[in-house]
Amino acid sequence: MDLQKYRKLLLKEQEKIEKYLKKKLEEEKKLGEEWNSPKDFEEWAYFTYTENDLSVKARGKLNRLKEIKEALKRIEKGKYGICESCGKEIEPERLELIPWTRYCSKCARRHPEEL
Ligand SMILES: [Zn+2]
Repeated sequence: MDLQKYRKLLLKEQEKIEKYLKKKLEEEKKLGEEWNSPKDFEEWAYFTYTENDLSVKARGKLNRLKEIKEALKRIEKGKYGICESCGKEIEPERLELIPWTRYCSKCARRHPEEL
């Protein structure tokens, strides 16, 4: 398995999402909210805006960012590309489309939170 390839895909997606979230963050700042610089986006979302109207889209992106970070950890641990449900290898075509996925396409159907 070409781990470097998936790692690159993940990093690229991560960068895209962080850019998007940074922009959102800037927009929020302009609204004049009381601002304590958060350590990271997750903190920002879950502690500062839990009760607030962080858009559905931004939430989705944040969740994906978390998935991506998890996937990068799995690469480091050498556990990447293994389905968490059935333990088989995830199809390479699937990994190319959704490099942060935890499940093979069969099991993904039983985990609707996964795309
Ligand atoms: Zn599976």
